[in-house]
Amino acid sequence: MKPFAYVRADSVEEATDAFAAHPGARYLGGGTNLVDLMKLGVETPTALVDVTRLPLDVVEELPDGALRVGATVRNSDLAAHPAVRDRYPALSQALLAGASGQLRNAATTGGNLLQRTRCPYFQDLSKPCNKREPGTGCGALEGVHRDHAVLGHSEQCVATHPSDMAVALAALDARVELHGPEGARSVPVADFHRLPGMHPERDTEIHPGELITGVVLPAATAGLPSAYRKARDRASYAFALASVAAVLHLKDGVVDRAGIAFGALAHRPWRARRAEDALVGAAPTTAAFEHAVDLELAAAEPLRDNAYKVPLARRLALDVLGRLAPPATT
Ligand SMILES: Cc1cc2nc3c(=O)[nH]c(=O)nc-3n(C[C@H](O)[C@H](O)[C@H](O)COP(=O)(O)OP(=O)(O)OC[C@H]3O[C@@H](n4cnc5c(N)ncnc54)[C@H](O)[C@@H]3O)c2cc1C
Ligand code: SF4
Repeated sequence: MKPFAYVRADSVEEATDAFAAHPGARYLGGGTNLVDLMKLGVETPTALVDVTRLPLDVVEELPDGALRVGATVRNSDLAAHPAVRDRYPALSQALLAGASGQLRNAATTGGNLLQRTRCPYFQDLSKPCNKREPGTGCGALEGVHRDHAVLGHSEQCVATHPSDMAVALAALDARVELHGPEGARSVPVADFHRLPGMHPERDTEIHPGELITGVVLPAATAGLPSAYRKARDRASYAFALASVAAVLHLKDGVVDRAGIAFGALAHRPWRARRAEDALVGAAPTTAAFEHAVDLELAAAEPLRDNAYKVPLARRLALDVLGRLAPPATT
C-alpha cells in the first residue's frame, strides 16, 4: 500500500489550502469511486482532503427562483428533495437510476460529476490506456468496446462518461460552481466535461486545485416537464448503455424550449443541440421528434461492436419526448 496523508477540512479555504500544500492530493467526497481506484492502483494520491464536513450539504432556494445544491449533498438526499422532485423531475429520476441505495447514500454531488470512466482498460494497470497513462495507446479501440462511445470519440480514447446525474443536469441547463486558487467561477454542466481529442487524460475543464462547491439549477427550467430514461443490461445497479434526459416547453401548440442530453454515448453528457434547434418552433408531432433525433444521431460513428447504441438511444429519446409532449398528430 502506498502511504498518503489525510486532512479533514472545515471550510472551503481550508480545503483549497490543504490541497495546495500537498502536491498530488485529491479531494475526497463519499469515496465510492476514488477509494476503489486507489485500491486498484489507478489513483495514487499523496493526500486526501476530505470535503464531506464542509458546510456545503444544503439545497437552498435562490432569490431568482433557482436552486443551489451544495457539493456535498448526497445523491439520495438530492433525489428525494421535494423541490427537485417537483421542479426538476429528470434530475431525481436520473439519480435514482444510478448505482444502489447504499452508494447513493454515500456519493456526493461533486464526486458524482467527477467520477472516472468505467472503461475496463482504464481500471487495469496491465493494459494500455491513454487516459490513465498518456502515450500508451487505447486498449478499447480494437478491443472490448461494447459499452464505449459512438459520438465525439478520438483515436486516443473511446470512453464514455458514466454519470446519470450529469446527463440530467446538462439537459436542465445547470451550472457547476468552482472555487480555486484564482477565485470563484461557474461553468455550464454541458461544457464542463470534455471530449477526449488528443488529451483524454483530462476529463473536465476543472483547473488544478479547484473545488466544486455546488451546482445551480436555473429558474428557467424549473417546473417544466422533464424526464430521464436509461437502458442497461439489468434492472438495477448497472451503468447506462444509453440514456436520455429531456426538458420540453410548449407554447401556442409549438415547442418553445427544448433541452436534450444523451448519456453513455460520449466522453461527456452529449447535449443534443441540433435536435433542440430542429424542435424549437415545430409542432410536437412524431415526425418532428424523429426528424430532430435522427439529425442529432447522424453524427454517430459507432465502433465495431457498439452500433446497437444508436437505435437504442433513438428509441429512448422518442419515448421520453413523446411522454413529455404527447404528439398531437402523427
Ligand atoms: C458498483 C457501483 C455502481 C455504480 N453505478 C452507477 C450508475 O449506475 N450511475 C452513476 O451515475 N454512477 C454509478 N456509480 C458511481 C457513483 O455514482 C460514483 O462513485 C459517485 O457518484 C462518486 O461520488 P463520491 O462522492 O463517492 O466521489 P469520490 O469517490 O469521493 O470522488 C470522485 C472524484 O471526485 C473528486 N471530488 C469529490 N468531491 C469533489 C469536490 N467537491 N470538488 C472537486 N473534486 C471532488 C475526487 O477527488 C475524485 O477524483 C456506481 C458506483 C459503483 C461503485
Ligand atoms: S477508451 Fe479511453 S479509458 Fe478506455 S482504454 Fe482507451 S484511452 Fe483508456
